[in-house]
Parts: sequence; C-alpha cells; structure tokens
Amino acid sequence: SYRPIHRALVSIFHKEGIEVLARSFKDAGTEVVSTGSTAKRLEELGVDVIPVEQVTGFPESLDGRVKTLDPHIHSGILADMTNPEHRSQLSELGIKPFDLVVVNLYPFADTVRSGADDAQVIEKIDIGGPSMIRGAAKNHASVAVITDPADYALAADRVLNGKGFSLEERRWLAAKAFAQTSAYDATIAEWTSSRWSEPETVSQKESGADTASPAFSTTLSRTWDLAHTLRYGENPHQQAALYVDPLNQTGFAHAEQLGGKPMSYNNYVDADSAWRSVWDFVPSIAVAVDKHSNPCGLAIGKTVAEAHRKAHACDPMSAYGGVIAANTTVSLEMAQQIKPIFTEVIVAPDYDDDALALLQTKKNLRILKVANPPRDQHQLRQIDGGMLVQGKDLIDAPGDGAQSWKLVAGSQADETTMRDLKFAWRAIRSVKSNAILIARDQATVGIGMGQVNRVDSSQLAVTRANTLADGANRTMGAVAASDAFFPFPDGFEILANAGVKAVVQPGGSIRDEAVFEAAHKAGVTMYVTGTRHFFH
Ligand code: 5GP
Repeated sequence: SYRPIHRALVSIFHKEGIEVLARSFKDAGTEVVSTGSTAKRLEELGVDVIPVEQVTGFPESLDGRVKTLDPHIHSGILADMTNPEHRSQLSELGIKPFDLVVVNLYPFADTVRSGADDAQVIEKIDIGGPSMIRGAAKNHASVAVITDPADYALAADRVLNGKGFSLEERRWLAAKAFAQTSAYDATIAEWTSSRWSEPETVSQKESGADTASPAFSTTLSRTWDLAHTLRYGENPHQQAALYVDPLNQTGFAHAEQLGGKPMSYNNYVDADSAWRSVWDFVPSIAVAVDKHSNPCGLAIGKTVAEAHRKAHACDPMSAYGGVIAANTTVSLEMAQQIKPIFTEVIVAPDYDDDALALLQTKKNLRILKVANPPRDQHQLRQIDGGMLVQGKDLIDAPGDGAQSWKLVAGSQADETTMRDLKFAWRAIRSVKSNAILIARDQATVGIGMGQVNRVDSSQLAVTRANTLADGANRTMGAVAASDAFFPFPDGFEILANAGVKAVVQPGGSIRDEAVFEAAHKAGVTMYVTGTRHFFH
C-alpha cells in the first residue's frame, strides 16, 4: 500500500517552512514540477525544478489565473496507477504521474480582512490550487496530498524513507485536503452572498420559491477556523474547541485577554451572555453579573462603578464565581469593588490604566477587552441531524423604535415607575425562560429564571429579592416584568402579595381578562406589550 515518491508537484502561496521538504527532494533526487514563484524559491534552496510551462507547453497566463489548469498536469494527478488502463494511457500520452502534490491556496480570508477592494479580493479566489488538491485527494490510491505546512516534516520523512506514504496515511491526508477546500469555498460563499443578494429583477418563481432567505444562507454557509482547543468542554470529560468566523475578527470570540488563566468553555458561554445583556442598554451605562449564562444582577448607573454596585447588590451570594460585563470603560472605583469578590471573568470595551493594573493583581481573574458591540444577526442551534437558525431577538434593543404598551389595569405609571418598567422589560431579554424579573431604581432586585412554570419563577424572584437583602423588603413598591404572558392569575398574585406596584407582560393568554381583573383588584398597574421575550 506504500507509494514511493519519485515525482512531486509543488505550488504554494505561503513559502514558509518549505525548507525541510526542499532538502528532502534534493537528497532523494525527487523530480519536482513547480509554478512561478514557488519554483524560484525551491531553486534558491538548491532544488532542480521543472517549470510548469515546460510540462504544459503553455505559458502561465492571464495574470496567473491559468498556470496548472492543463491536462498534462491533471492527467498526472488523476491517473490511477493501480489501473493498467490508466498506466498505458499515460505512457501513450507521454505524461508522467505525480506521487505527491503540495499546495497551499491564495489567502482569500486574509485579503478580505485587509480591507482590499472587491477586485483584489476576487483575484484571490484560487482556481488551479483547489483543482490540484481535489484531484490528488480523489486519487489518494496513487497520490499523497499535502495542504498543511505542519505536515511538511512528515512529507520530508516519507520522501526520504524510500517507501512513501501508506494508503492509510494518504487517505487521512485526502480527508484533510477535502476539509480544506470545502472550508475555503464556504468562506468565498459567505463573502459573496453577504454582498450579492437576490436582485429584484429575479421573480420568486424564477428563483425557486422555497429557498431560505439569503440572510440565513449566508449564516449557514459560514465557515469556522479553529482558533484553539480548550482544556475541556462543559465538563472535564468533554472535548472542546473555539472556532472563529474568518471574516469577523472583531466579535466577542476575538476578545483580547489582558490577564488571568486561559478561558474555559463555560467562561466563554457565560461571558458572552453577560456581554450581550449590557449592550441592550446603550447609551446608558450598564453592568451585568452573570452566572451559568443568567444574570444574577443587572443595573444601569450614573457611573460604571455605581452600575456595578447595584448589579452586585441584587444577589451577592450568586455573584461569587460569576462573570461581569460592562458596556463602558471600567474605572478604578469599579475595579476596587471587584477586587474582594471572587470573579471568573470580566469583559469590557476598555479599562482605565489604574483599574487594569489593580485587576491584574488578581491572578485568576480573566480580563477581556472587546472593542465592538455584538454584531451577529442570527443564532444557530444544533439539533440532532439538523440546524435551527433564527434572527436574534432585537425587539427593545437599542435602535428599535418605542413600542406602544397598553395599560390594562390600575393607574397610569408615573415617570419613575415607567422608567423602571422599561428597564425591567429590556433586562428580561437576557434571562432564561420562564423569567420573572423584579426591579427598582433601574436595577434588578430579584430574578426568577429558568423555571418550568411561571408560579415558581414568581416565587423565586420574590424570595431572592427579600432573602438576599439583609432583612430589607425589596419587593414592596418595586416593578416586575414577565417574559411571556401569565397563563393564570396565580403567578401574578405572588408578585402582588409581595407588594409589587406595577407589572409589564406581553398579554395574549386566553385568560388575560382574569389576570387583568386580579391586577385591578390588587390595585396594581399592568401594561401589556404585545411582544414577548422567550429565551431558552
Ligand atoms: P506561485 O507563487 O508558485 O506563482 O503560485 C502558487 C499559487 O498559485 C498557489 O497558491 C496555487 O494554489 C496557485 N495556483 C496554481 N495553479 C493555478 C492556476 O492555474 N490558477 C490559479 N488561479 N491559481 C493557481
């Protein structure tokens, strides 16, 4: 199953690391065919190279668009040397087979990221390279294909050992090669479909009525580059890795780490969630303290330090081992507050120098800086055998127009109450359903999250508000939000009995009237929004 390497085809954009392979070609006397600047580099390294034009009998042309796209090359790549028919055809045609193909592609994603114009980006769509890679990978029965510079040393060894690669090794290389060309094309598709959507001149009928919206197909065709593996996943027995979008270099996944241990899988999940919630409050200054991707405190403040004090005060017990996100520069005052609290991660757009220096004295605190607000417009979730995609819940996000709420019970809220209701309704977007959130003074004071019925969520919110506050009653005179309608009056009644004075909820239950009646009887102001904020 071994195939000794007598003849190699080398065409690489990035020349780094090729020295080891060049030396092996020289030492083994391998015949090497190569394209323009690759040939030049190999010659510098002392390898006798046959220029590709000599094999094709055709000059490299059209600015390099046509170099290796030629039957003299591709027959040499695709001939199945285990097939006597192919062997005799090759000799009739006077074509010599390749045993090894070494290619790396034009840097498409790098060119996009560099801010190059469309024409330059398009020129970096490699055509001949993927054809050689795919041909060699298909014909792994006869050819070994190297696409990853990390494998040059391995290839050098197989050139020199006289036996070449085993079939098993060639199959493995072929699998890596196909993964590379498919990721390469997917990145091109992501870029092209994000710029060129279906024109109005194409009717629904002509385009095929049931195709997904171009926005979704862009998201689904997206490729992911391995950034690095993680120590483990949600639990120590689960493997995990971070992948990043090669065309989006500014998102949370690309956070700059300014201190602390490496990020874990759970750190990423929790901090991303906190990060998302604080951006909902721009232009106000907001801080979130999250645990297990639920807020255990979220608040707006006049300063970032005040917002943090208020967020932390919601649930100081749960804040232990939590993650903190701020939507503005972290000040020294805030850093001083955080110092005594065991915190896993802090994420912010920036840090004052003295604040950063202080935080960096906490060796275990992971300090993340992310320059840009969240940008992804869609959410993906895998189900067994499929993928769900949805637009993000951006209602009530900054920029979303004011909604018209309807007063359905009690008297109209005064300005402060309305401000707190609006805060609670926006904050509940980042709480896992079923969610009940109690707030006062633009800060959460009790959050009931992730329960499977609304009564339990209400009870949890009230209990947490009042047992975590050193004997203070924080529900009396507070406001509350419910992420979805109350199916029965019972959940609402728990809030009313705790002294909540105003509630905002979507409405839409078949028992709305009974719920409104309960609010009316309790003298509680109730607004319905007509939209809900499920978050699962
Ligand atoms: P060189 O730097 O050796 O002149 O060119 C190497 C690069 O050209 C490699 O990235 C390879 O994938 C690419 N390449 C090789 N043949 C062709 C071809 O026929 N057309 C295009 N567009 N690219 C090619």
